[in-house]
Amino acid sequence: MAENPTQTTRRKGRRPKHIPQRTCVSCREKESKRSFVRIVRTPEHGVEIDPTGKKNGRGAYLCTRRSCWEKATTGNVLERALKVTLDQETRDKLHRYADHHFRDE
Ligand SMILES: [Zn+2]
Repeated sequence: MAENPTQTTRRKGRRPKHIPQRTCVSCREKESKRSFVRIVRTPEHGVEIDPTGKKNGRGAYLCTRRSCWEKATTGNVLERALKVTLDQETRDKLHRYADHHFRDE
């Protein structure tokens, strides 16, 4: 299995403090200041939106652009990121969430 190439193998007592950067799975944009929404694959409930970012499971991030959510709910970028097949119910759920929270740019 391939290791994460960005991960350092050196271990020290203290880690340098850094601002966590997220990458939107749709547009691949990295930004720390734009708010990202975490999507998580949970064993119990399938794919969920995780606004707190604290749920356990494999996570993927989407930025708050409507176009990114469109792409994620109609295409397979999210499926690839989460290694899961999205059923129609989940796609609808994500789509409704985007409808409620984000505006077209
Ligand atoms: Zn995006």
